Amino acid sequence: MQYFTYGQESYVSKPTQQRVVDIILDKAQVALQKANYSEANDLIDGAIEIAKDSTIYAEAQLVKLSYYNQTGQLQKAQTTIDQLAHSFDQTSTDYAKFLLLKSEFFMNSNLLKEAEIAISETQIILAQARDTDMSSILQLQRAELDLKVKNYSKAKETLEQLLPTLINSKQFYAAAKAQLDLFRVTSITGEYLISKDYLIQSIRLSEKYDFNTLLKDSYLLYSELLKEEEEFEKSITYLERYTVIYNEETTAAQNTASINEFNKLIKENKALTVSNNEKTQKLKGNDASYILLCIFITLLSLLALSLFKNNKLRAKSNQVLEVKNSALIDERDRAKDATKIKTDFLSTITHELRTPMYAVTGLTHLLLEKDPRNDQKEHLETLQSSGEYLLSLIDNILDFNKLEANKVELETIPFDLHKRVNDICSSLKGQATDRNNNLHIHYDDSIPSRLQGDPVKISQILINLIGNAIKFTKDGDIQIRVHKANNRTGKCLINFEIEDNGKGISEEKQTAIFENFTQEGSSTTREYGGTGLGLAIVKNLVTLMGGDIHLKSKVNGGSKFSFEVWFELPDSNKFYDENQHLDISENKRTNPTTTETNINNVLKTPANNTANSSTKMDENKLQKPETAKEGVLNEKQATPTELSNKKILIVEDNKINQMITRKILEGKNFSCEVANNGEEAVQAAKSKKYDLILMDIHMPIKDGKQATIEIRTFDREIPIIALTAVTINESEKEFYQIGFDDIIPKPFKMDEFFEKIQKAFTNYEVL
Ligand code: ADP
Repeated sequence: MQYFTYGQESYVSKPTQQRVVDIILDKAQVALQKANYSEANDLIDGAIEIAKDSTIYAEAQLVKLSYYNQTGQLQKAQTTIDQLAHSFDQTSTDYAKFLLLKSEFFMNSNLLKEAEIAISETQIILAQARDTDMSSILQLQRAELDLKVKNYSKAKETLEQLLPTLINSKQFYAAAKAQLDLFRVTSITGEYLISKDYLIQSIRLSEKYDFNTLLKDSYLLYSELLKEEEEFEKSITYLERYTVIYNEETTAAQNTASINEFNKLIKENKALTVSNNEKTQKLKGNDASYILLCIFITLLSLLALSLFKNNKLRAKSNQVLEVKNSALIDERDRAKDATKIKTDFLSTITHELRTPMYAVTGLTHLLLEKDPRNDQKEHLETLQSSGEYLLSLIDNILDFNKLEANKVELETIPFDLHKRVNDICSSLKGQATDRNNNLHIHYDDSIPSRLQGDPVKISQILINLIGNAIKFTKDGDIQIRVHKANNRTGKCLINFEIEDNGKGISEEKQTAIFENFTQEGSSTTREYGGTGLGLAIVKNLVTLMGGDIHLKSKVNGGSKFSFEVWFELPDSNKFYDENQHLDISENKRTNPTTTETNINNVLKTPANNTANSSTKMDENKLQKPETAKEGVLNEKQATPTELSNKKILIVEDNKINQMITRKILEGKNFSCEVANNGEEAVQAAKSKKYDLILMDIHMPIKDGKQATIEIRTFDREIPIIALTAVTINESEKEFYQIGFDDIIPKPFKMDEFFEKIQKAFTNYEVL
């Protein structure tokens, strides 16, 4: 503080002045970048006051000019330019700086010819001065001018060349500005993909260094862009961020106004005090208490005036904020409406797509069963795999839509995690073998045999992650590690890791791949297919369970996805231990607490894999609720001959669907009857004995749910399977509560269909 000695009597040497002023101006520049305008203004004024030397004074004035340019105070900028015109040696870099600020002023005032002249003059000076940093700023300015005069290709070329230099020389503010300009140019030239990238990069850099001046613009632009992409929720978040900066700036400006007002009042006060003093002198000898009263009244009125002015200011700023708030609320409501329309639309469209898809996959299956010629077979198989791909896409969209609309509820039921993990790996084994990959399970034996949580969601996460690991690895190893990370009374934290040694993911793409419809690049889509929805669903599910997903990856060095989830422990361990039924006799124990399983050698469950390289198996295969059968159970699988005598009632209103389901089942020697709606189904179930009912849900006269409720009043035993496309407004839980034994999502994959029917005929005997 010893530097801050004001007044003519105190002498501060030129080097000291220079040092102090430089420090203050540096701080002012940072404040300007952060849009802390009142702080910047105070600092610059402080520096100007210290700068007694004319060159140092001119340097401080330059920053003031920059402040006026940034805050749009054109009149004051013009005055400062006039004052500074002759302050510099015309070959110095300071003069170049001045010219650059002058060109910025011209650009702000739309005097583009004058701006061009100032830029060209700067170029001549810098050509001799060889200041590379300044040259970069000059080029940036030129590109911005090109942008203004609509010379887009030139602007783009300059900016693209400049950007790496700016980053290398750590001129981050200029780099973020260049990225923002590149966004503007490329979005004008229609290169939307790279333009979005530039905007995101600019936001990242500006957020890192608090470049609020840039962030204000970029948040608003990003919000607009997201609105166009119909990402309404995200768009609002960025609009809100924009408003925060905007309000901070406005408040700061108002505060500066209040401070100015306050200083004025103090000055008036001082003047009044002086005149009062004079009067006091004159009135010396008069009634002292009268004079004191006068002073007191003057001060009181000044205070009242200041309070009044302050209140007026506050009322005005409140008014501005109210208007802005109501605009934001309108915008949010509009976005919410749009989101709802989108969600309902997706729900209807995915539901509507399923019915014709049923005809496609069902009829293809029937044709394949009819011993087609080899060339026909090839076409039919392509038709089948395309159908399955479309199905998995529909499933993903439906899942994602549900998650976005917050329609996904978590279940809390007891289940055996070890069995889940083994089952998942066994069903993905075929897919792994196709790509010559080995699956290794490392399961921590200290994890309690029963946990309480949502087994379906956990399966869905693991299927997606392991499925991806298999898909993006060839001739490699996939490690699936499940460990207990923490233990509390009644709770257990489980850590999951899925690691592969496949192609890996580049660092830039690692955060983006968790966003919807994002893949590593267009070549990924060409080579591996997929939609880029899987990881977005996984991330949403993990977050829903209170966890967080992490990724470590290196190009060609493999990827490791990990997440942790808390599970509750059920009251007792009386439930059926699913582990008993797995042949794990060949399990290799590598350490006393972990069971390591190589899925390729060990799991002996039938190879019922339907997931192919382009489809991700959905969790329905594994979703039979584990609460359904309590007690210690023993499974007896029905044999094929036993199955062929079974009588099935198909309840379905659509004639094509009736025909397809019937033919598929008759192809396996089941005997079938058809009911056209729920009412007919109830009558049929009352009058005849069936071994299984396949129940459609949406039907005229009586729907499938109502029919099942009625059948359950007189028959609690007969297995009833819902054949339905579960829509966004239906919950699977509700189906089981009504009395369904299982759900087959429509249209189904054939293997899954028969597997579930087989399961329905599996006898459970309570031992
Ligand atoms: P999809 O697999 O349908 O394309 P995802 O959301 O599951 O969609 O994955 C998004 C992208 O992330 C993939 O396209 C791929 O580029 C990358 N990815 C995901 N998992 C891996 C992995 N284990 N190894 C390499 N890349 C992966």
